[in-house]
Amino acid sequence: MSNFDETFDWVVVGSGAGSMSSGMLMRQAGKSVVILEKTEFFGGTTAKSGGVMWIPNNQFMDPGEDSDEKAITYLDAVVGDDSDAPGTSHEKRLAYIQAGPKMVDFLLRQGVALERGSKFWPDYYDNLPGGCETSRTVVAPPFNRKELGPWARKLRLGMLEMPVKLDDGMQFASMKHSWGIKLLFAKTAFKVVMGKLTGKMWTTAGACLQGRMLKAGLEKGVDVRLESPVKELIIEHGKAIGVVTVKDGKPWRIAANLGVLVNAGGFAHNQAMRDKYMPGTRSEWSVTPEGDTGDMHQEMERIGGVLAQMDEMVGFPGSLTPGWEKQYVFTGMQAVTAKPGAILVDQAGVRYMNESCSYELYCETMLKRGNANPSWAIMDASFMEEYALGGSVGIKKKPKDWFDSGYLKVADTIEELAGKIGADPAKLKASVNRWNDMMARGADEDFQRGVRYYDQYLGDPFHKPNPTLGPLSKGPFYAVEVIPGDVSTYGGVVTDINSRVVKVDGSVIEGLYSCGVSTASPMGRVYPGAGASVGPSMVFGWIAARHAAGLGNQAL
Ligand SMILES: Cc1cc2nc3c(=O)[nH]c(=O)nc-3n(C[C@H](O)[C@H](O)[C@H](O)COP(=O)(O)OP(=O)(O)OC[C@H]3O[C@@H](n4cnc5c(N)ncnc54)[C@H](O)[C@@H]3O)c2cc1C
Repeated sequence: MSNFDETFDWVVVGSGAGSMSSGMLMRQAGKSVVILEKTEFFGGTTAKSGGVMWIPNNQFMDPGEDSDEKAITYLDAVVGDDSDAPGTSHEKRLAYIQAGPKMVDFLLRQGVALERGSKFWPDYYDNLPGGCETSRTVVAPPFNRKELGPWARKLRLGMLEMPVKLDDGMQFASMKHSWGIKLLFAKTAFKVVMGKLTGKMWTTAGACLQGRMLKAGLEKGVDVRLESPVKELIIEHGKAIGVVTVKDGKPWRIAANLGVLVNAGGFAHNQAMRDKYMPGTRSEWSVTPEGDTGDMHQEMERIGGVLAQMDEMVGFPGSLTPGWEKQYVFTGMQAVTAKPGAILVDQAGVRYMNESCSYELYCETMLKRGNANPSWAIMDASFMEEYALGGSVGIKKKPKDWFDSGYLKVADTIEELAGKIGADPAKLKASVNRWNDMMARGADEDFQRGVRYYDQYLGDPFHKPNPTLGPLSKGPFYAVEVIPGDVSTYGGVVTDINSRVVKVDGSVIEGLYSCGVSTASPMGRVYPGAGASVGPSMVFGWIAARHAAGLGNQAL
């Protein structure tokens, strides 16, 4: 037996979404737990995210709104042929669906407040059998990080440090059309002011989920260690028995009696791995935090784990607005090009997709096309007057350096605009004419934009008859470059239905579990709905702990 400096029952590598769901389960079973996080902050990309979990048939939905049968019908349909996606299988998808609400129930009993994310956030392929036209999302309500005491500043900063639900915040863009949204905005502004006066530190989205998980986990006795990178997984007689981390600048060996869970995120900031697995993508186009470097992917492969679906990412189309590096995230372009008066074209000027598809499919389509990385968003003057681009509405509000730097191209005619973006004027003109002709007939006959509920969700709810459909008829016309950015990688080690890491011969590495984007996604090569990354990480982390603790279906 190797010499160890310390022993725990459950050792978690990385403070991702599944770290605390597994940790609290283990604590409830009376086991000791340590979470080793390599950066100075708790929470990973999960804390930076929207914090949405896709949990079919969850307890916050209305009776009869969903069922396990409906959800598995959908997942099977959306994943389709999974022969080249060993991270998923019918059994694994079913295990996810069945465990999701149980995990949510467990967290509620641990004191983690959760609620429905939205009443209207449809599945991304809601037109497929079993698809949900309302919402399968679960989120945590806003959280005052001050409740974490000395840990308050050790929780990674989130996307919205405000007392507002992400779903509500997303409505503010339509404020001028609705007194209800104006009132919501006023209430939020009041809470912000009150929060400042009373010294509250509000977080929402992913940071409030991870903040609430951290608070509950610490109270239950989970040992959390920051700046503790795991360098090595210790294997003896084919079994994972511990890890090597760093303490006071020296190697520190920790034994794991029941197992090691790798929840160490993806490899978004490892350009060499990107070049190998996802050529054409750039690490600087990823809005994941700095710790997402794939070291555990490499380590799990070294000890016999199989990597799969490594060419997949949770794409997020973006635009590199001048100064974007200093912002939280680049300008998201999916919702921009899904608005009336906007389309996306390739470098030749040809429209080539339904701009209201999922962000994952959007980027995949860009990358597969060949001449569409980058692509161009084309907008007309009506769009510019009505909708946000880069956080502001209206051409007068756009910063001067957008024009000076050539980021935002402007022209009186479509042909002139084509010249400015290096596209073929005839092709761009034909694309816009075709779009406008179809809009006159009221349907996108080429790519069916606007047909699904999800397409409409991305549009303008006040635009009739279809929220996402409207011509580009009023000049001047505008263009900005769109790149296939990402919010995560989506490939990793293959795991079984109990989250155990699988080897090439199909057997498992005893004692080694993994969840989240360290694994090949249990959703295969698609992104079925909002929360399809954080949800599986939480659920399969929890499943791993149940298995390692030998709990089976026993309730805790
Ligand atoms: C702006 C944004 C919005 C998003 N919104 C959503 C959403 O609403 N819903 C959704 O499902 N997905 C969303 N995503 C994607 C999602 O956040 C990620 O895919 C997901 O959080 C990954 O979670 P994880 O549990 O795998 O790991 P992470 O949360 O990334 O955590 C992994 C942790 O492991 C640490 N680590 C890495 N290597 C080591 C090591 N060797 N030793 C110790 N620690 C290590 C990392 O530093 C990191 O803290 C969003 C992403 C972004 C950026």
